[in-house]
Parts: sequence; C-alpha cells; structure tokens
Amino acid sequence: MRIGHGYDVHRIVQGRKLILCGVEIPWDGRGLLGHSDADVAAHALMDAILGAAALGDIGQLFPDSDPAYEGASSMVLLEEVCRRAGEAGYQLGNCDITILAQKPRLLPHIPEMRRTLARVMKTEVDRVSVKATTEEGLGFTGLGEGMAAHAVVLLEERARLTLL
Ligand code: MG
Repeated sequence: MRIGHGYDVHRIVQGRKLILCGVEIPWDGRGLLGHSDADVAAHALMDAILGAAALGDIGQLFPDSDPAYEGASSMVLLEEVCRRAGEAGYQLGNCDITILAQKPRLLPHIPEMRRTLARVMKTEVDRVSVKATTEEGLGFTGLGEGMAAHAVVLLEERARLTLL
C-alpha cells in the first residue's frame, strides 16, 4: 500500500462559480479564483493520488502556463490522474478530504460531492470521504479570504501474479 497527502489553497473572489469536488455550490456570487475551475478540494485530492504513486504533482502535469487548462474541469483532470495512477499499477484503496471554509455551509452538499468523485474515479462511494470544517474565524479561511483543502489517499498495488 502507498500513502499520499495533498494540500491546496485558493482565494475567494466575486464573480466566480464555487465548485468543490466537482459540485457547483450555490453561494452569493463568490467563488474561487484560479486558472482552472479552482476546485481546491479536487486539487488536493489529485496531489494526494500523485504523491502516493510518486508521479509528481498537478503543477507539473497540468501547468498554469498551458492554455489547454484554462477553465478546465478538475473532474477531467482527476480522471487523467487516476488513469496515470492505474497505468503505474495502482488502484484506489480510499481517500479522505477535509475542506476548510468559513462559509458557505457545505454539509448539505457532501453526499453529492462523494458520489461525483466516486463516479469520476470509477470506485465505490464508501471509499470516498469528504469532510468540511471552519477554522473558527481564524486565519485566511476564517476571514473568508480563501479556502483550503487537505487530502490523504491510500493506493493499493494491483495484485501481481507470481509463478510458483
Ligand atoms: Mg489549485
């Protein structure tokens, strides 16, 4: 088994959609700023998968400087990350994401986030955990300046056939 960790931060701005774990969250016109869809949770998850497989990070795979990724759906990128991990001989054991956001309230959207990630990663929903917390008004997430996300992933090496 292989473990990986990912962390990401995006700034909150007016006039952007808020997309977390592939789900558009209705808010008040604010969302996350970024080159792609700025899905901070998906970015942390992808870095955790790549970390577990020692395949680099999303900055290397999908550079900001490449116009191909402007406005890109992080779910398309996640599918590609899973394909590469699969090609390297790994399958998902489980993943656990924690989103740090003061607002909006994310709890009602957690089931759809889990279903969406499981569908994209071609795995079962019970292997996918998404949690959300505030930071009690402290720091940049508490002040509503940005959102952050942590993710940990366990990858399992596909069984290898051995000749006895
Ligand atoms: Mg990011």
